[in-house]
Amino acid sequence: MKKGILLLAILFVFSCKNETKSNGKLNVVTSTTMITDLVKNIGGDYINVEGLMGSGVDPHLYKASEGDVTKLVNADVIFYNGLHLEGKLVEIFEKMDSDKETIALADEINKKQLIVSEYFASNYDPHVWFDINFFKQFVEKVTIVLSEKDPINAEKYRENEKRYLADLNKLDEDVQGVVDVLPKEKRILVTAHDAFNYFGKAYDFEVVGLQGLSTATEAGVQDVQKLAAFIIDKKIKAIFIESSVPKRTIEALQAAVKSKGHDVVIGGTLYSDALGNAGTAEGTYVGMYRYNIKTIVSALQ
Ligand SMILES: [Zn+2]
Repeated sequence: MKKGILLLAILFVFSCKNETKSNGKLNVVTSTTMITDLVKNIGGDYINVEGLMGSGVDPHLYKASEGDVTKLVNADVIFYNGLHLEGKLVEIFEKMDSDKETIALADEINKKQLIVSEYFASNYDPHVWFDINFFKQFVEKVTIVLSEKDPINAEKYRENEKRYLADLNKLDEDVQGVVDVLPKEKRILVTAHDAFNYFGKAYDFEVVGLQGLSTATEAGVQDVQKLAAFIIDKKIKAIFIESSVPKRTIEALQAAVKSKGHDVVIGGTLYSDALGNAGTAEGTYVGMYRYNIKTIVSALQ
């Protein structure tokens, strides 16, 4: 019912849309904080960027507000992750497709390289940004689109792209350096939901999520008991909370391990589906990745 009203609202705003562009700059709307940070890195001061989701927001459950609809309607370009990460926004994005440039960045990745998953309507795990090479493909696509839409500043976008890709290459190298310190048998990452499969694939970690790929499904008692037995069997020292998922599931897992006479610590909070607060190091993709890997490796060592 609510969804119907929202769609009607969109159609209404479309019909009375005027073409005013604030300060002559391209209006870009983004979904997750990772994509907002990326687009700001490429667009700099040459564009207006409005991110829909803030720090700590879970994109699987996020619903558009009335304010979001206004931002979307006024946008020249919309960038989102896709692969049904933004499960409740997809319908709105798809409605907009014919009217404006609406781009699912994950569509840039060759499907053969994606991790197959039956949890999502897309049939693929949507947490692709945790593979830095995939995130670099996002960067390339954003640069192309901004340059096409705003050719006057195209040279600036390409300069920013070059600098940002160099930052991401350095990040990849540094992450690998930190991971190399951790022996192979200790590379097991247990978190609240399965956000880290691409990270695991890239850096040779076994990844186990308590809630499956989406936070829309709750973990059952059986899952908790099974995972507790796994933690004891593999002598895993630490498990991790995620900033955008309530911590009670991981605390229940810790309690289950303790009830069997063993101990596992909570190794810290990882940023999974959202970055940290704006203005902090973890509020950027690069800072988030550095923080996560340091937290993971120091707790598992
Ligand atoms: Zn997720």
